[in-house]
Amino acid sequence: MKFEYKIDFNWRRNVSETFTINREETFQSPTAIYQGPADMTSKHTNLKWVLVHTGNDIAYGLAYVAGDLLRREHKILWIDGEDDVEKNVKKIKKFSPAYICYGPLSTEFLQALKLAKAIKKVLPLVNNVFGGHHVKAIPEELKNEEAIDYLVWGPVYGSIDKIIESPPNELIEGAPTLPANMQPALRDYYKQIPRMGFRERKYIMSHFGCVYNCSFCCTQVTRKAFGAKVYKEFWLNRRPIENMIEEAKLFLEFDTKEVSFEDDDVLYGTHKGADGTEWLEEFKEAWKKEIDLPMYANVTPQTVVRSTDKALRVLAELADTV
Ligand code: SF4
Repeated sequence: MKFEYKIDFNWRRNVSETFTINREETFQSPTAIYQGPADMTSKHTNLKWVLVHTGNDIAYGLAYVAGDLLRREHKILWIDGEDDVEKNVKKIKKFSPAYICYGPLSTEFLQALKLAKAIKKVLPLVNNVFGGHHVKAIPEELKNEEAIDYLVWGPVYGSIDKIIESPPNELIEGAPTLPANMQPALRDYYKQIPRMGFRERKYIMSHFGCVYNCSFCCTQVTRKAFGAKVYKEFWLNRRPIENMIEEAKLFLEFDTKEVSFEDDDVLYGTHKGADGTEWLEEFKEAWKKEIDLPMYANVTPQTVVRSTDKALRVLAELADTV
């Protein structure tokens, strides 16, 4: 099936001698949008960025944005988007950031937009940057929101310098990077958003894709835009176990009672002939030795019936609830 994705890169831009670009891109699946992995080098450092937590779940995606910002030596501050708007505006004003990043789910979008509008009234020069799955799903609709300065489509990687170098009202494209380069920065998040730091159930993921392709899900948009081959290489590749254990050590400092292994299907790649069983066994050994918190894992009937017996035994030893 042919997939077309049209993006006007210059919405609301005043065309002048300074800004003369006026082009429209048409992306066609499977790989037209993919121009190689993200450039992980940094041209800019030491700018201030606010990250806005929304909702009642761990802002796991934004924690990776925080990780990339800190790796690039920027300064960050987390605020809780559910707090009183005036209180947040005061906090942001005191920190005086150049950029404020939001990654709301669709259900949290209006709350995030309310804060973005309130901030614009007090700090008109601050730049509101929206990313995440809601932006990925409907970028065209969001272009008309006056309070949004930048929309980031796709992964954060490769997008930070582009945001800094682009004039406002720009749609910025991120690019994938291998999971070994991706690490969330959760310590500041848990400290500055205490209701998340002391949340009894924390999240962890070994990769960031889903093996399925439900038509209503953002997975389908990503897979179509980048192509199945690229999706498999970057989104379905598992993280190094040592990076996951390093991340999980924080759970022991922040009053965690159980951990949700949030991969959409933990048994992905554990059928005969694939390498997922070995990965799962190695992860289980490291988890039991270093962390040993009760674990909750997602699987699907399709993988349960195809998994090796060994993978099922290992999963039973790893997870208390499946
Ligand atoms: S199984 Fe869940 S995450 Fe995977 S494509 Fe379907 S809805 Fe999306």
